Amino acid sequence: MIYNVAQLLKAPVGSDLRQSMEGTVQLEDETAEVVGPVTGEVRFQRTNQGILATGSAEATVRLQCVRCLEEFEQPLPLTFAEMYLPTIEVVSGHPLPSFTEEQGFPIDARHHLDLTEMLRQQIILNLPDQPLCREDCKGLCAICGNNRNLRECECQAQADERWTALSQISLDDLPSEN
Ligand SMILES: [Zn+2]
Ligand SMILES: [Zn+2]
Repeated sequence: MIYNVAQLLKAPVGSDLRQSMEGTVQLEDETAEVVGPVTGEVRFQRTNQGILATGSAEATVRLQCVRCLEEFEQPLPLTFAEMYLPTIEVVSGHPLPSFTEEQGFPIDARHHLDLTEMLRQQIILNLPDQPLCREDCKGLCAICGNNRNLRECECQAQADERWTALSQISLDDLPSEN
């Protein structure tokens, strides 16, 4: 998702450009994977320092449910407002002072602004901590490992019966040692 922003960098502060976006983002993350392209709308605004990119996008991510361990896909809506700073002065071609990651993302020497890394970071920030395939996922049976969303097993009922039976034994019922 690369845009040539040379013209916008030459334009007066406040000038803007609206673009649609669609592209691939890879996470390099073992717990989540982006499925298909990330799509959305972006507005580039010329500021006195660089270009402010604001917009919204949607990614679909494949996650693993923490309860039943099944993989599932979930749409992830993203909104962003990020500063992009030039590394080369657009008219003179002179290098500009360097800046930190906190100050902004770089616009490269050919005046290309790439949204990919920013979107990758946005996706990671918005991933759920505890992914669930559905709110009421029943998870796996702790005894036999059966996926309880697909089929109920008898394990829990049997375990409950044994506990009930155990709890009904009082100390007086136990054989005395003398
Ligand atoms: Zn689940
Ligand atoms: Zn079971």
